[in-house]
Amino acid sequence: MPELPEVEVTRRRIAPVLVGRRIREVVTTGDSYLFLTRPEKLRRGLAGRRVEDLGRRGKYLVAGLDDGSRLVVHLGMTGQLFSSEATSVRLLSATARDSLPPEAQQRFEPDEHTHLQLTLDGLGPRVFFRDVRKFGKVQWLGVGERTERLDRLGIDAMATTGEILSRAGRGRRSTVKGLLLDQSVCAGVGNIYADEALFGAGVRPGRAAGRVTRREYDAIAEALRRVLARSIETGGSSISDYVAPDGADGGFQDERKVYGRTGEPCHDCGEPIKRRVIAQRSSHYCPRCQR
Ligand SMILES: [Zn+2]
Repeated sequence: MPELPEVEVTRRRIAPVLVGRRIREVVTTGDSYLFLTRPEKLRRGLAGRRVEDLGRRGKYLVAGLDDGSRLVVHLGMTGQLFSSEATSVRLLSATARDSLPPEAQQRFEPDEHTHLQLTLDGLGPRVFFRDVRKFGKVQWLGVGERTERLDRLGIDAMATTGEILSRAGRGRRSTVKGLLLDQSVCAGVGNIYADEALFGAGVRPGRAAGRVTRREYDAIAEALRRVLARSIETGGSSISDYVAPDGADGGFQDERKVYGRTGEPCHDCGEPIKRRVIAQRSSHYCPRCQR
C-alpha cells in the first residue's frame, strides 16, 4: 500500500505535468465506489479548469483549481497516478506485455483499470489514474465544499513534533504504535514508517502511549521525520503495485531496520528482530534496542 513517501514522490513527479496547465478533456470509467463524486459531475467540474497547485495532506493528493474547486485523489492500495510518459513495464499485465512488439512494450495504453484520464492543453503528456483493486478514491470538491476525510486529519507526519505526540498520548492506555497510526493525530503514517520510527527512537511499539516520556516522543517525532524524508529521497518504498509516476522504482526497502526483517539480526546489536501483532497490525522491533 502506498504510504506517505510514495504519495509525496508521486506529488513531486506529477506536479510539473499538471500545475499551470488547463484540463482540456476528462475521460472516466463508469460510476463506482472509487468515485466519491459521480463521474459525470466530476468531468463537468474538471473540464476547462487550470490546475493551480498540487498539495498533499497525509496520503491525500489535493489539486487546487483556478475556480477555487479542488480535485482530491487517494491512491488506496493499488492506485497509480502517472503521466502518459511513464515507462515502467510493471504497469502492464504479463499477457499484455507479451502480446506487444518489443519497441512498444514500454508504452502504456489506458485500460479498463484507468479510471481517470486528463488531457491537458499544450504538448505535454496526459495524466492517468489507474487502480486495479479500486480502493483508491477520486473526489471533486466545489468552491467552499469540505470533506470529513480531510477535516479529520491531524498534522502531517512530516511536520509533527514531540509536543504534539506527547499531548495526544497523554492518559492513553492504548499503544504508542496505535497512536502513530491514528490519522487524526498525525496524518500519513503507515505500518512501515511507524515501526521504523519506533526503532529509531528506541521505543517498543507495544508500550502504552500514556507511559511514553516527552523526551521519547521528541525522539519518535525526529525519527519519523527522518525515515520519511529518507524514503522520499530514495523514491518511496515500492512495494506491491506501487509504481512511481515516471516508472522508476523506490529504494527505501533496502534500508529498513526492522519492518519485514522478522528473525533477522538487528543491524545495531545482532539480536533477532521480533514480530508481534500490535494495534491490529504486524509490528517489528528489536527486543534489545527498544524499551
Ligand atoms: Zn538491536
